[in-house]
Amino acid sequence: MVHFVGAGCGASDLITVRGARLLSEADVIIHAGSLVNPELLNYAKEGCEIHDSASMTLEQVVEVVKAAEAKGKHTVRLHTGDPSIYGAVREQFDALTALGIDYDVCPGVSSMSGAAAALKAEYTLPGVSQTVIVTRMEGRTPVPEKEKLRLLAAHGATMVLFLSAGLSESLQRELLEGGYGPETPVAIVYKASWPDEKIICCRLCDLKETVEKNNVKKTALILVGRFLGDEYARSKLYDPSFTTEFRGAEK
Ligand code: SAH
Repeated sequence: MVHFVGAGCGASDLITVRGARLLSEADVIIHAGSLVNPELLNYAKEGCEIHDSASMTLEQVVEVVKAAEAKGKHTVRLHTGDPSIYGAVREQFDALTALGIDYDVCPGVSSMSGAAAALKAEYTLPGVSQTVIVTRMEGRTPVPEKEKLRLLAAHGATMVLFLSAGLSESLQRELLEGGYGPETPVAIVYKASWPDEKIICCRLCDLKETVEKNNVKKTALILVGRFLGDEYARSKLYDPSFTTEFRGAEK
């Protein structure tokens, strides 16, 4: 059996209770060493076999799993944040299915949640945006034509950009040409929930300069939108004049 586990975005106590239990029961752990906090390996039991997938191919990962399965061992495949977001898990799921190996998935705290917590921000502010666009600047991995950044930017919605800190020049250009105003607030959250977490705020028109000045190249999210500003509407849910399923409106 293989458990895909979301490690959370950094701090070792941000893993779920279930994820920590699965780690402590694992005979074999394959972790994404470049992004997963090594402290999480303290949950492993004595004698657990540990592999760092940073230097491995998909085929090598599958070989380790196959060997573990042949001995009836339990494997945890530990992914950063939540496995469903830029986790390259689908190809692993399919490889295991083809081999008849059973697996399940334990979710994790994505860095997009970690970054919002660091900022004490709400992505879906009433009167500002009710949509979160999770995307990336096109790099070596191509992005479908209809999802080009400037097309997505036209919505003016809250935007969470993964894997894009090293591409700040084209990022700034695409977002501006797509329709966000130059004054749109931006936050760069580096290593959310790690001890060396850093939050840098700027305007969209200063994004490239700010990223370069602070030398942020990776392990950062770029958050864009007026949810970072001061203006918003109150929620209906907690409005005294609003009746909900659980509470009548105040007279
Ligand atoms: N599955 C992960 C994302 C993996 S892709 C998740 O849910 O968070 C790797 C990218 O995630 C990095 O390039 C960076 O953009 C972002 N990232 C991962 N951890 C981060 C953190 N602690 N703070 C800010 N961004 C992070």
